[in-house]
Amino acid sequence: MKVHVLDLNFFASESIASFLIETTDGPILIETGPDTTYRNITASLKAFGYAPKDVRGVFVSHIHLDHAGAAWHFADEGATIYVHANGARHMADPSKLFASAKQIYKDDMDRLWGQLKPIPQDRIHPTGDGERITIGGVTVQAVATPGHASHHNVYLVDGMMFTGDVGGIRIKDGPIFAPTPPPDINVEVWQESLRKMRALRPDALYLTHFGVFNDAGDHLRLLEDMLLQWTSWIGDRLKQGRPDEAIVKEFEDYFKGIIEKTTRDKGLFERYELADPAYMNAPGLIRYWRKFRSA
Ligand SMILES: [Zn+2]
Repeated sequence: MKVHVLDLNFFASESIASFLIETTDGPILIETGPDTTYRNITASLKAFGYAPKDVRGVFVSHIHLDHAGAAWHFADEGATIYVHANGARHMADPSKLFASAKQIYKDDMDRLWGQLKPIPQDRIHPTGDGERITIGGVTVQAVATPGHASHHNVYLVDGMMFTGDVGGIRIKDGPIFAPTPPPDINVEVWQESLRKMRALRPDALYLTHFGVFNDAGDHLRLLEDMLLQWTSWIGDRLKQGRPDEAIVKEFEDYFKGIIEKTTRDKGLFERYELADPAYMNAPGLIRYWRKFRSA
């Protein structure tokens, strides 16, 4: 079995990945990236000798557009789309998903994410927690891991764990961030998912943002630390009665400051912003505090 990291070149390199696994029955993909990089993913497939119609199965970690926005293309070409049961109906009817993304991205929707089309019900396979799916001799285990989103899975293939967003963002020698956009963030549920992931003792983590890391234990610990650090940073300011807009603005400097302290690579800030915009993280955590901790 061979696994290839496909860099989807989303405005900058190494911000969004898809993973190609070759099986005896054709390739499978984990993550598709958005519609706007569909041309790039097809070019990458071609470099390995495949056309989109060869793709047998597509596993998406969750339904956010940077992870699953191009899944409908592969369904059109005949692939089965594997997705957490809570996300399945939004793949069949993406109108709500599209509307909620449109609220955030407004006129930038087309440029960033492109189109979303409904996927026929019979091309969607809603996964159960722990379910194992075997394609061409390769077994993929779906592990329900909410916290970032209620419809989030990680996938385990032979000790390799494909972590979507719940496993954090880490680019080169930059920091490990927990992406916390609205509307679904639940810190305690996320921590529970991290415990579940640790208990599976992965040999390596395959991060959609970005790439392969072999220090799974340390990575997951540092990710949890950062998640808790951000959570209390937001909570402290809410308790001081700071207005939301001020917190969001201040968070951008805090976010940038952590990156600058961790790496000397000046180019990384832009890639972190593409993978996990600072202005999205604070509102997600503010919402979490109001909903669950009554700040
Ligand atoms: Zn993401």
